Amino acid sequence: MQYISTRGGMQPLPYCETLLEGLAPDGGLAVPETMPTVDGETLERWRALTYPQLATEVLGLFATDIPRADLARMTAAAYETFPEAVVPLRAIDDDLTLVGLSEGPTLAFKDMAMQFLGQVVEYALERKGSVLNILGATSGDTGSAAEHALRGKDRISVFMLSPKGRMSAFQRAQMFSLDDENIHNIVVDGVFDDCQNLVKKLAGDLDFKRAQNLGAVNSINLARITAQVVYYFWAWLRATDIGGWTEVSFTVPSGNFGNILSGFFAKQMGLPIRRLVLAANENNVLDEFFRTGVYRPRSAAQTLATSSPSMDISKASNLERFIFELVGRDASRVVSAWKDLDDKGHFDFTADLSRFIEEFGIVSGTSTHADRLATIEAVYDASGDIIDPHTADGVKVAREYVEPGVPMLVLETAKPQKFAETIREAIGVELEYPSELRAMLDAPQRTAEMADDEHELRAFIEANALR
Ligand SMILES: *Cc1c(COP(=O)(O)O)cnc(C)c1O
Repeated sequence: MQYISTRGGMQPLPYCETLLEGLAPDGGLAVPETMPTVDGETLERWRALTYPQLATEVLGLFATDIPRADLARMTAAAYETFPEAVVPLRAIDDDLTLVGLSEGPTLAFKDMAMQFLGQVVEYALERKGSVLNILGATSGDTGSAAEHALRGKDRISVFMLSPKGRMSAFQRAQMFSLDDENIHNIVVDGVFDDCQNLVKKLAGDLDFKRAQNLGAVNSINLARITAQVVYYFWAWLRATDIGGWTEVSFTVPSGNFGNILSGFFAKQMGLPIRRLVLAANENNVLDEFFRTGVYRPRSAAQTLATSSPSMDISKASNLERFIFELVGRDASRVVSAWKDLDDKGHFDFTADLSRFIEEFGIVSGTSTHADRLATIEAVYDASGDIIDPHTADGVKVAREYVEPGVPMLVLETAKPQKFAETIREAIGVELEYPSELRAMLDAPQRTAEMADDEHELRAFIEANALR
């Protein structure tokens, strides 16, 4: 299996070689040259597998350049710190079932992909005999998941930018309490998009990028997208086991379009998915796109700080991979859409609107702060279950798309403990923290503070990068 760019300007590369780059050299994103497919018989055979075994099967279709035994060792190592089920399913009422993706070390779904990424990137670096300095931007969960997956690695260091004052106390503690030498937390005086723009500037300077061995593990990384495909298969196998249905729908609390893109890959691979429901918060550029066909990213200043902060995104980095399929894999049309974005601030696929649902099964909705609070309360009253604000956005939007006879699976993207303030506001409950989490919250924190300034960041990286 080889990977090509959505913009058509990259020699096909094997899996391991796409992992160490951010964007393709032409500014596009790596996609499989042809999507692998899975037939019904194979699916039935996969029912008996454990999560790491299933991950080996699914990832083996994408990472054909990694011997099976190596892949099996890495998936086992990636998920060994999770509880046995890795991804537990639980019904909250007759209509909705939650898919628990937050059982990993940082209590959010990013661990699912990052734990595998940590294994496979170190593996690819060993094979090449090189090192990697990861430069990333986070609005909360990506950064902590990356740092917890990469701490203490020999060939990798992490430079993680985060927006000052925009993360929860818990998210800050999870990142800033790490004292591993290979982890650098950089707090930028700006919002998430300022952080992301700084990363883009440095990553776009190819000489600097090469000299400093810079790479990325952001939400466009192929290891993450492919590792996330696994739990769509897992959830389908569990939901159909129980109910005997064939088609299921998924609702995905969305920001950068990474998680739901993996569901889209699973559907293209032949997994019987009826609807992929995109749930947005108040920063609903994607909901606007899937309702109107017009994609109009917002500026940093127009991006609201909400109570589901990991979805506070104004541009959705992974959308380009969906557009590539929408235009029939015609890279020149992808290029012209992004040229429209640069020239006019939007692009327009109104003419294709009916295909969004009919061909691709994607629908969408928006949830607000008031919806979030009401949903957390309603779920708590009905089932005693406490859900986090991002999952609440999912539950709210999922209800708008429940269909008789089709199980609706809502991805639980974080544990409520990460967002205790909002839980208190919604239901007045003080969440209990287990002792290891309390210790983390009380631990000393270590960061470098910085202005929204490219030169300052360059100097910091030059002084601290692995060589
Ligand atoms: C990252 C994140 C999201 C959004 O996922 P995308 O892949 O960016 O769409 C939703 N919820 C939580 C808790 C997250 O950490």
